[in-house]
Amino acid sequence: MLAAWSLIPAAASALTDDEWRKRLSPQAYDVLRQHGTEAPGSSPLEGENRKGTYHCAGCDLALFSSATKFHSGTGWPSFWAPMRHAVATSSDSELGFERTEVHCVRCAGHLGHVFDDGPPPTGLRYCMNGVALSFVPA
Ligand SMILES: [Zn+2]
Repeated sequence: MLAAWSLIPAAASALTDDEWRKRLSPQAYDVLRQHGTEAPGSSPLEGENRKGTYHCAGCDLALFSSATKFHSGTGWPSFWAPMRHAVATSSDSELGFERTEVHCVRCAGHLGHVFDDGPPPTGLRYCMNGVALSFVPA
């Protein structure tokens, strides 16, 4: 986990850990800054069906469009593609097997993981923590 984290350029992570802690809710801090995972089904954004944009809860960068959202049945908000230049990935073997971690390109906040069992056209499933996102209706 720390090895993967160190590969991420400092970018907009100019805030100190203390500053992040003050800026975010305890739940969002746990996910974005500590690589936590929210309980499945706990985010109201999973059932969000309106048109709009999902932003990073850490730095407000637009990350996902409602046009790429789908109901995966996993209990987490799921998308088949991120917006351009919005997210970056790194390898994560925290659970003893390889997963691809997804993080915000601007603040490096941890968002979730991407899996290759998603729907067309990409076949990808971006499995996001709702607490790491904020929804802006169109
Ligand atoms: Zn961010």
